[in-house]
Amino acid sequence: MKHALIIDTEAEKKEILNRYKSLLRACKSTLQKGDKKEIRKAFELAVECHKDMRRKSGEPYIYHPIAVAQIAAEEIGLGTTSIVCALLHDVVEDTDITLEDIEREFGKKTAKIIDGLTKIAGVFDTNSSLQAENFRKMLLTLADDVRVIIIKLADRLHNMRTMDFMPGHKQLKIASETIYLYAPLAHRLGLYAIKSELEDLSMKYLEPETYKLIANNLNEKKAERTLFVKDFISPINEILKEQGLSASVFGRPKSIHSIWNKMKSKNIPFEEVYDLFAIRVVLDSHSDQEKADCWKAYSIVTDLYRPNPDRLRDWISSPKGNGYESLHTTVMGPRGQWVEVQIRTQRMNEIAEKGFAAHWKYKESNNDNGLDLWIQNVREMLSNPESNALDFLDDFKMNLFSDEIFIFTPKGALLQLPLGATALDFAFEIHTDVGAKCIGAKVNQKLVPLATKLQNGDQVEIITSSKQAPKEDWLNIVVTSKAKSKIKSSLKEEKRKIAEIGKEILERKLKSLKITYNTENLEKIAYYFKLQATQDLFVAVANAKIELKDLKEFLNDENALDTNNPKIQEEFVAQKSKSGEKDVLLIGEDMQLIDYNLAKCCNPIPGDDVFGFTTINDGIKIHRTNCPNATQLMANYGYRMVKAKWNSDQQLTFLTNLHIIGIDAVGLINNITQVISNDFKVNMRSITVETEDGIFDGMISIYIKDTNHLENLIKNLLEVNGVTSVTRYDG
Ligand code: MN
Repeated sequence: MKHALIIDTEAEKKEILNRYKSLLRACKSTLQKGDKKEIRKAFELAVECHKDMRRKSGEPYIYHPIAVAQIAAEEIGLGTTSIVCALLHDVVEDTDITLEDIEREFGKKTAKIIDGLTKIAGVFDTNSSLQAENFRKMLLTLADDVRVIIIKLADRLHNMRTMDFMPGHKQLKIASETIYLYAPLAHRLGLYAIKSELEDLSMKYLEPETYKLIANNLNEKKAERTLFVKDFISPINEILKEQGLSASVFGRPKSIHSIWNKMKSKNIPFEEVYDLFAIRVVLDSHSDQEKADCWKAYSIVTDLYRPNPDRLRDWISSPKGNGYESLHTTVMGPRGQWVEVQIRTQRMNEIAEKGFAAHWKYKESNNDNGLDLWIQNVREMLSNPESNALDFLDDFKMNLFSDEIFIFTPKGALLQLPLGATALDFAFEIHTDVGAKCIGAKVNQKLVPLATKLQNGDQVEIITSSKQAPKEDWLNIVVTSKAKSKIKSSLKEEKRKIAEIGKEILERKLKSLKITYNTENLEKIAYYFKLQATQDLFVAVANAKIELKDLKEFLNDENALDTNNPKIQEEFVAQKSKSGEKDVLLIGEDMQLIDYNLAKCCNPIPGDDVFGFTTINDGIKIHRTNCPNATQLMANYGYRMVKAKWNSDQQLTFLTNLHIIGIDAVGLINNITQVISNDFKVNMRSITVETEDGIFDGMISIYIKDTNHLENLIKNLLEVNGVTSVTRYDG
């Protein structure tokens, strides 16, 4: 059946004007002199540019930019520049208007933000590495102007709200991106309301059945809940009033997505989820009374209802990194059920709901360091030329989800670190030099080793010594990416310096022995002394582990210089295997001292049978013994092989690829990623999916511990409804 579209242009014009008026009402509170004119100008330009365009629903396209501007103003609280940018966010990309036009009409700032918005428009393409690179670019704009990201979130929110008209496969793709990146981003920026809505909307498309089930259940119990909330809050209201505190107390339903998370993580049916809502006490406090008032309210609530001592969270004394402030407690309600109560002031509430933008409004308050710090961290990570885009994305996502701890310096300043951070991490957080020279720490006045894990609230003093230098095993101690990369580069630099010295010494010694100094001879000498690479040879010479007499020995071994002699090759291999353990390269250890990589052609993971192969310029490459290249390598360059085995105590993960084929069904991608991320806690690097004629064909790159881990994962993936085959593949 075809759907006829009847367009009444007069009615549409009226409707456009109505929507514009409603937008103006939403930004009324922030409007200053001249602002209204700017917004009007942007509105008129957008109307003109999009006049012949329509959305998938058949509606005039201009409804979309107006709605995005409305979200920016009303739900996030952004000001005039952002409203103008939101109205114009699609014009450069979709019409003939250029950035120069925008700059001429609206100024540099606006042009720059729109440039950012246009550039990140193609962020999510099908190619996974491109996607990561673009995402990195998108975050780079954070450094310029965080409003680019916030307007992008508003744009995404409106698209999600109006997604019913999209074809099914697009809905799935957009919803997946939203849950994978946009919702965490909103969370990190403190936009809780938007984050929750994005999550709920994604779920509506990714898991429509469950979504409907929970929504219906919630609806059924609504009357009962309202009554309960009324009974619960009326004594609180009474006593608050008696004590002279002005506040509004109300029940807030939890999002469908968070209820679903709870059902999954606790493995319980809907009926057993007790906290379907939280009680919120929002106090109308004077700015210097905020903390005292919140604790007063806490005391009132917990006098009425018995609190669970394990469930008090004080984010007022130490706000979260994204600026969130609140007191949370869980108390026993009158009907014997736990109820979460959130206590905060109006200012805190606004920051919690509208996030970053509200910070600007309350700039005089002193709690906006968290976000600045985060942006600074992102900027630092991005400016590191060694980090590749995909690693960055993983680090970034890890940082998004990891918990934070707060550590005091001796002078009482507060630093923020990820959960699990050690004294050494803290030292590097203070300054690279403090980290590099760190020999110990005092935690709460007690002397402790570098590797000590810090607890929230610890006060830490770092002890340094000018004789100290970073050690290789420090890499096992630290967790922050900052400390890791500083230690790595310092170790590399140190080794390079020593090798430089050794190289000069060796050159002189070879000259005196009349051995030509060239790559070929250097490699032969390195093999003779059972060293993996010429750089190791230089280091050994510098450390006087190889001296003139050893080189003479080498020279006297008449066949040593002839690696083509099959007898020598045999001996070399025999010698290597005789000396046993020592010659075995332990993968996972020595990562920085010996230059080795996992071969890209076969992506070995722990548990695979492997061998090392010494390359001329690229250190040692680890291949699987059943790698297609292995036979050729072993056949032609047997003497270059190095025994290798996996170090089983290492907690490293390795990249591998899975090819999944199945019958496409609603929620299939989600079920697969559910098994990978939630059940197996495996990190995904990328996922590419094609669907044709109902057949699902997916390539997934994941970080896996070992072959056992992989086999179990494959077994579980095969149990997902619709999946018919799962195979590991290379490259
Ligand atoms: Mn848009």
